[in-house]
Amino acid sequence: MSSLSIRYCKNCSKPFNYKVSPYCPKCIIAIDEAFEKCRNYLEKNRLATIKELSEETEVSEKIILLLLKEGRLSMEGNKELRCESCDKPIDSGRYCLECTVKKHNELSYLKSNLRPGETATGRSQSATGKERMHYIPRSKKKDDEEE
Ligand SMILES: [Zn+2]
Ligand SMILES: [Zn+2]
Repeated sequence: MSSLSIRYCKNCSKPFNYKVSPYCPKCIIAIDEAFEKCRNYLEKNRLATIKELSEETEVSEKIILLLLKEGRLSMEGNKELRCESCDKPIDSGRYCLECTVKKHNELSYLKSNLRPGETATGRSQSATGKERMHYIPRSKKKDDEEE
């Protein structure tokens, strides 16, 4: 399944050989440069909005939002980024603190309950299997033979 290692860059949508980043090597460099520019500007202008930051650094708003979502940038003046779960305005990342805690708890619950390779579906199937133990199968054919 070599096709699994081919991903489409989350920024420019070009296919590339996937290793660790969701971006192609070209975009990784571009995003790193954009990040440095934004970070430098935000150090001096803590309350800058995304629009100001974009104008001053010449970094596209799309990339700024991307950096915010990844949690690399945090902007106090940003009002555009919202929690993907409850739609509350957030400074950085994808979820507000409340939802991050909630997600984390769900995740650690899943991790502690599922062994590697075991899926939620697999578990429900084994539960059904247990119920079946009470049922003693008697095939129609066997009944016929006894008569
Ligand atoms: Zn790219
Ligand atoms: Zn939230």
